[in-house]
Amino acid sequence: MKNEIVSKYIQEIINKNNDASEIWKKQFLYNPSQEHDSYELDPLNEEDKSVRPHHNIIHKYPNKILILITNKCPVFCRFCTRKRNAFEENGISVPSADDINDYLDKNKNIHELIISGGDPFTVDSEKLYEFIKKVLSHSNQIKYLRYHTRCATTLPKFCINKYDTLEKLVEVFPMVTHSVVFHINHHLEITKETNEIFEKLLSFQYRLFSQTVLLKDINNCPNILKRLFEMLIKFKVQPYYLHQLDRAKGSKYFEVSLEEGLKIMEQLKLLLPSYFLPRYVRDSSRGKKNLFY
Ligand code: SF4
Repeated sequence: MKNEIVSKYIQEIINKNNDASEIWKKQFLYNPSQEHDSYELDPLNEEDKSVRPHHNIIHKYPNKILILITNKCPVFCRFCTRKRNAFEENGISVPSADDINDYLDKNKNIHELIISGGDPFTVDSEKLYEFIKKVLSHSNQIKYLRYHTRCATTLPKFCINKYDTLEKLVEVFPMVTHSVVFHINHHLEITKETNEIFEKLLSFQYRLFSQTVLLKDINNCPNILKRLFEMLIKFKVQPYYLHQLDRAKGSKYFEVSLEEGLKIMEQLKLLLPSYFLPRYVRDSSRGKKNLFY
């Protein structure tokens, strides 16, 4: 897949030709070495009805569902699990709240919604607000709401223009725990703008978490991950997941072996307090499995 998507914000960093530029170039710019591997377009079997019972719902755990509300992103990470959807013109859009509410009515043990995509913060603010408001107003079933985004590092203005929406949702639904999980792979991805977003969301009473993909020649080094997790903790973002790469087609180029990943975790355990460490996990169609204890 030769296509690239690079936000203007990232392109400006790339043009500076500094250390951060290199980190971003490796993640977003096409490299012919990524062409040839035998990995699959749908490594987590998400197109299967048993995992994706509705076009917008991924249901792997009894108590939570992930809602796909867009396939758009300000960037295209070349190791993206859902790269099969990334360039579809009319791929995924905000679902009808009624559809989601019907599904929740039939599955009363679901208490958590994960709003994802693509990047949910690329969606129009008003549309996002109306959708979430209708779902949370339907019943008291949902106790936990979280967004998965990469916009805080790849296009901060998309987080900034969600401030009103995110603040209002906390005010209107104070009984729900509201969280954001930021995809961040390297400490050099965090800028002044990213830090300001963390501060703002904390001021709205959001709980903040991070997820990181273990990537060859980007962050497969205990000292780099140490700096990342230290920085996140300093900014009150709890490191949550370190992902073993999903084997999506064209991703082998980025893969770090499980053996190396475990060694990195062993070293991190000696370098940091245990509460700085994320869960090192591998995802599958049946959910995440812990790789390190
Ligand atoms: S930000 Fe996430 S969804 Fe978007 S391209 Fe990257 S990995 Fe895929």
